[in-house]
Amino acid sequence: MSKVNATSSLKLPNFQNVSAEEIRHCKIIGTLGPSSSNENTLRELILSGLNIARLNFSHGDYETHKKNIDMVRRISEETGHPVALLQDLQGPKIRCGKLLNNGIEIKKGEIYTLVFAVEQTDPKVIPIDYKDLVKDVSIGQRVMMDDGNFILRIEDIKGQNVIVRVEDGGLLKPRKGVNFPDAKLSLPAMTEKDSRDLLFGIQNGVDYVALSFVQDPADIHGIKKMIKAMGSDIPVIAKIEKLPAIATIDEIAQAADGLMVARGDLGVEGNVERVPGFQRMILAAGARHAKPVIVATQMLESMIENPQATLAEVADVANGVLDGADCVMLSGEVASGKYPVECVKTMANIIREVEHWTFKRPDRYSTDELDRSRHWEDHEAIARAACEAADSLNAKAIIALTLTGSIARSMAKWRPKTPVIAISPRPEVAARVSLIWGCYGLQNPLFYNTDELLQQLPELLKGLGVVNSGDTVVITAGIPINQVRPTNMVKINRIP
Ligand code: PEP
Repeated sequence: MSKVNATSSLKLPNFQNVSAEEIRHCKIIGTLGPSSSNENTLRELILSGLNIARLNFSHGDYETHKKNIDMVRRISEETGHPVALLQDLQGPKIRCGKLLNNGIEIKKGEIYTLVFAVEQTDPKVIPIDYKDLVKDVSIGQRVMMDDGNFILRIEDIKGQNVIVRVEDGGLLKPRKGVNFPDAKLSLPAMTEKDSRDLLFGIQNGVDYVALSFVQDPADIHGIKKMIKAMGSDIPVIAKIEKLPAIATIDEIAQAADGLMVARGDLGVEGNVERVPGFQRMILAAGARHAKPVIVATQMLESMIENPQATLAEVADVANGVLDGADCVMLSGEVASGKYPVECVKTMANIIREVEHWTFKRPDRYSTDELDRSRHWEDHEAIARAACEAADSLNAKAIIALTLTGSIARSMAKWRPKTPVIAISPRPEVAARVSLIWGCYGLQNPLFYNTDELLQQLPELLKGLGVVNSGDTVVITAGIPINQVRPTNMVKINRIP
């Protein structure tokens, strides 16, 4: 009989001598950029708790992204801490063009004309890089510029010209973002750049891809088709940042592999006051469909400049965790801020505190309304049973033998205090579960020999520092494994 060893050198969190609920369940995503794309900072970020590195394809060239991908892999291997890679595609972001004098002052009450053009030639005409502008907008609708800082309202549409009046103005700089929050735009979900970037991401082994400005489930079906044609099954995160996506959130949650509450653009498109409500709505849709949800943007914004978070920011991160986020995300704070490592440490501390508090509360997460009326699949019933068993037996871990990782999502839906260790023969599946609440991945080729793996599991888990003699683990698998069955078995094991 071959001796078991963990084929990957990646470690799991320290399970020994801590109770299951002390393992951090909510994950941290950090965006790479000038402040974090160097070996020392990245190492510190990973050692401080970074679980997923986000590559923002709105910025940077392939050479820089490739360097970052290689660096994450190398330091992840060197430190033994698994870090998944999330590629964030730019999507069809609309921008104004080049402006006279490198910027124009747009004043309240003034009238301007928006046209499809690259460059400004008349101070009263603003070029916009969106061809179908006049077809998609209507009189009375708002136009937002520069991340919602400026508001204009459409007064008339004449031929190829959209006439707007400034309601809230300021200095408009070239290439600033332009949003049409009241219009359903006929933009393709993927630009040519996005398709090229996606191929680059797949060729370089990223673990997730995030699609920006999703408007409806067809956008997800479209990118999934493309991914399949590229010979991959990389999971897709739908970035929810437009109002039409809120209207079809259940269908999008069903089609995608995860959701992101992209609060920056959502605040521009839907008013900032509505964002906390949207956040809860999106998190609830993720829970209903067992899909992970990322809460993103401005979580520790003031830490771009300061070493300490404000009380409001701490409360915001804590509320994200309390609302049930699988991941909380840092953007500018880690990409270009002055204190990237302190940001990750702050987030990890907030999560730990909140989880410590919530795990002491029986009503910490109400799952009562989840899917009771629907007929469950076998694997869903097994997931529920495994979570109940593990939590009530104070098990050290739920060990899920999985080919696709989907059972980890079904378990996370129930928010067990017991962490899930997903063992898969596929390294990419082991990496992907990093994004799921309370789940950690492990690659092991013995997967295909269930009897042997089950027999050797206690030694493997002891060797990995997960369990001590006398601990309990709950194991799930789809047996016989060589027939690639969905999970259909749950087993309680006491470690000898
Ligand atoms: C957002 O708008 O909140 C977001 C995450 O998207 P991006 O940073 O890509 O604009």
